[in-house]
Amino acid sequence: MRTPLVMGNWKLNGTKESVSTLIKGIESAADAATNVEVAVCPPAIFIEQVANLTTNSSIEFGAQDVSTNVAGAFTGETSPVMVKEFGAKYSLVGHSERRQYHNETDTVVAAKFVAIQENGLVPVLCIGETLEERETDKTFAVVETQLKAVVDLAGIDALENSVIAYEPVWAIGTGKVATSEQAQEVHAHIRNWLKAQSEVVAEKVQILYGGSVKANSAKELFAQADIDGGLVGGAALIIEEFVGIIEGAK
Ligand code: PGA
Repeated sequence: MRTPLVMGNWKLNGTKESVSTLIKGIESAADAATNVEVAVCPPAIFIEQVANLTTNSSIEFGAQDVSTNVAGAFTGETSPVMVKEFGAKYSLVGHSERRQYHNETDTVVAAKFVAIQENGLVPVLCIGETLEERETDKTFAVVETQLKAVVDLAGIDALENSVIAYEPVWAIGTGKVATSEQAQEVHAHIRNWLKAQSEVVAEKVQILYGGSVKANSAKELFAQADIDGGLVGGAALIIEEFVGIIEGAK
């Protein structure tokens, strides 16, 4: 069976003080949930602080985005090598806000996926449809295209050591959580799509749901056969909410 993973995506939020309060506030719940993996993705500038705060805890951490380049004349970028040096395990890749505000195409996302793996981090590949795409019945086609771009470049076996996060764009930060049936339907479709290429990958890969997950919706979502945890934005910044979500994954 797949271990559930609850991952906080803090986006562009935090101060030195709030980061410390948040980690201390979720630490005991994360440590107590021995059958749940817990991770946070802070803004890059807080990675060292999170690394120091989590030395004696089970909380893992990752970057929200990294460059495809490991070093050089790329002003403003964060190298996967740097992130790894501080002890990160993960990096998100292809989050819808990166796709939307930074014009990250499927090609760029695939190149970042490879760079993340090559440098010893586990990519958390974010995919999902917009409201318009859902309403015109393109959901399955959209997630397949997004996955295929990565598989074409990295090969299907590369997905064995990755995490997929299905995040319908219309549910992100809107308070409109997908119903557990809506989410499970897409998760099952993703897993079947993978299964047609590799049973091993399909069985192993954790597929997280993301989009307005809260403590009161987590348990039902995570109880679905193909939902292996959540990628949590807004609720990951509130101690009681995030703790409730971890509880919901037990
Ligand atoms: P949200 O964000 O939980 O605030 O909807 C999820 C995400 O963007 O990963």
